Amino acid sequence: MQKELAVSISDLRYVCIECPSCRTKVVLDMREKSGFAKKHTIFTPKRCLGCETPYDTAIQPNIDGFQRAYQALPIADRISFRGEPVAIVPLDS
Ligand SMILES: [Zn+2]
Repeated sequence: MQKELAVSISDLRYVCIECPSCRTKVVLDMREKSGFAKKHTIFTPKRCLGCETPYDTAIQPNIDGFQRAYQALPIADRISFRGEPVAIVPLDS
């Protein structure tokens, strides 16, 4: 028996970033802007809040972009991620 994992973007409320140096985990709420996001006008911190080590430079712009997609309702509830391909309408037909 196969289990299919299907997750809608609108179900993914929290993003977690783990620091590779000190393992501090930062959890960001994509639905409610944090005090940090309101103050700095960026959603994702650029460095670890525990040890100040800068994150990989790809993290901040990409997670910010994902958060914008999340906020762009009503599309977020129509897009889902799946663990297996679902052939409903082949893209290349
Ligand atoms: Zn750290």
